[in-house]
Amino acid sequence: MKSKVIIIGGGPTGLMAAYLLSLKKFDVTLYDRKPTFGRKFLLAGRGGLNITHSECREKF
Ligand SMILES: Cc1cc2nc3c(=O)[nH]c(=O)nc-3n(C[C@H](O)[C@H](O)[C@H](O)COP(=O)(O)OP(=O)(O)OC[C@H]3O[C@@H](n4cnc5c(N)ncnc54)[C@H](O)[C@@H]3O)c2cc1C
Repeated sequence: MKSKVIIIGGGPTGLMAAYLLSLKKFDVTLYDRKPTFGRKFLLAGRGGLNITHSECREKF
């Protein structure tokens, strides 16, 4: 039987944790107080994530 895991918070951290645990055969349920997951990260993406702005492709 799969062990159950509950994760509170569906930002990038919670989503990654849920993904990795699901690969390990845990039964994961993800909750967020907002209507959809990853809202802050999507907001960040709208302004242009700066993680790749200043790096050439090879260096990144
Ligand atoms: C305008 C802006 C620009 C950004 N630009 C960049 C960038 O260029 N590059 C970069 O790497 N990062 C950027 N970031 C930061 C990036 O968005 C965060 O580092 C990332 O979202 C953090 O992920 P997290 O999962 O730790 O937290 P969060 O994304 O904050 O997720 C936490 C989640 O938990 C939920 N939650 C909190 N409390 C509760 C509760 N009690 N019950 C249920 N749910 C709850 C929240 O609703 C949220 O969905 C930017 C952020 C903003 C706002």
